[in-house]
Amino acid sequence: MRVAVVGAGISGLSTAHFLEKGGADVRVYEKKGGPGGTIETKVIDGYLVESGPNSTSETNAVIDEVLSDLSIMDEKVYADENSKFRFILRNGKLHALPSGPGSFLGTGLWSAGGKLRLFGEPFVGRAFHEESVADFVTRRLGREFLDYAINPFVAGVYAGDPSELSVRAAFPKLYALEEKYGGLLKGTIKGARERKKRPDKARVSAKLFAFKSGMGILTRKLADRLGDRVQYGTSVDSVNLDGNKFKVKLSGGGRAFYETFESVILSVPAYAATGVVKSWLPELASELSKIKYPPVAVAVLGYRREQVKIDLKGFGFLIPEVEQRKILGTIWSSSIFPNRAPEGFVELTTFLGGSRQPKLVSMSENEIAKVAHEENAILMKIEGMPAFTSVTKWDRAIPQYNIGHLAIVHAVEHVEGLYQGFHICSNFKDGISVADCIANGKKVAERILG
Ligand SMILES: Cc1cc2nc3c(=O)[nH]c(=O)nc-3n(C[C@H](O)[C@H](O)[C@H](O)COP(=O)(O)OP(=O)(O)OC[C@H]3O[C@@H](n4cnc5c(N)ncnc54)[C@H](O)[C@@H]3O)c2cc1C
Repeated sequence: MRVAVVGAGISGLSTAHFLEKGGADVRVYEKKGGPGGTIETKVIDGYLVESGPNSTSETNAVIDEVLSDLSIMDEKVYADENSKFRFILRNGKLHALPSGPGSFLGTGLWSAGGKLRLFGEPFVGRAFHEESVADFVTRRLGREFLDYAINPFVAGVYAGDPSELSVRAAFPKLYALEEKYGGLLKGTIKGARERKKRPDKARVSAKLFAFKSGMGILTRKLADRLGDRVQYGTSVDSVNLDGNKFKVKLSGGGRAFYETFESVILSVPAYAATGVVKSWLPELASELSKIKYPPVAVAVLGYRREQVKIDLKGFGFLIPEVEQRKILGTIWSSSIFPNRAPEGFVELTTFLGGSRQPKLVSMSENEIAKVAHEENAILMKIEGMPAFTSVTKWDRAIPQYNIGHLAIVHAVEHVEGLYQGFHICSNFKDGISVADCIANGKKVAERILG
């Protein structure tokens, strides 16, 4: 069976990997000169710079299957034990997120009233319409928990706006606690009990991991294994139906040409998929064009260890919108994983922009580095200037699973049902994390092979 995969990011490469393993004759077309898409690792002046994802969670078993296929199991590195300490800014001060009942009662992150409000959660009824994350959390847990827990968390995951994100689409597991068990607390307790009764199906505790040489090794090795089945510098311009096959228009190296396939998988961002299908499926194209991708800037900063006056024991910190700062948060990269900075130096990764402050990303790279440094200097008591800076701007970074997203996903599934062999496997569907993209790749490949 001839199969075309469009896009050599982690979604496309995972799909192609499992298709190839299953015996399909697969071709991957990537418009850029190399693999990875959003996954981008560079080593500059002894710093390991991740411009995209820094790590991902071990939420499924497919990850290890891929690592073992690629013989890179020994490259996997788990986050440092201390990275369980995560901080949130309140009134200009970093507060550790509580890890148990004692630290919950003692934390200055929420007021006594805010904490008390959480105890009312089991008595809150359900909603019967599609709610935003902000409405869901305010209804169940109160405004303060939205401002000083969920708002910064959403900035950290989606660089998104809780009042626009759909709770059901963006956080399906959270939504399911209310839907299935009637509340978050009840759901957490009952869910844990049910999992205990079914040890075989117990969810692997999702540990955070990366790779010794950075996330880029994953997509590089996947692409290496596929060899010349991956064609770089080749853009897919359109897909059309040709009898019971698909006619794919490609361009690259100054020429345009056509190829015919029995199956096509689009593993490109929604705005790119819009262009590819618009002549064949204008209604689907119009749905896909609704998905927003706010811009994000990633500033990687290096300092001599002694310049930073806080202990850097932890994952890093996130900033609630109400604190009115110019950054979304900072990961203490060299505290989490080894080999991130030269001996005696530390590496910090700061995120700016997102739905909250998209205009910041239009500043020059120097200005972005300056803002990131100035904000970190205040919040983390840093003395002097950074020894290293590297800035990456993503004009369209992360797809937002906003209110209405599920209708878009239904439109995709409807088309997939109509045209056997046509699939979309990309981070705007079924999860944005690298781990989700890998698992989705296997699912789609199995559907095609099956
Ligand atoms: C700044 C940032 C930080 C992140 N941090 C994390 C993190 O810490 N942990 C985590 O799990 N996830 C993180 N993510 C999310 C995760 O990295 C992405 O969701 C995932 O990498 C997306 O993979 P993909 O293959 O679906 O899409 P992409 O990586 O976008 O790949 C799509 C590919 O398609 C190609 N393409 C586009 N149009 C065409 C065309 N017409 N023809 C041919 N090729 C085309 C593109 O060039 C690209 O290579 C982060 C994302 C960003 C932006």
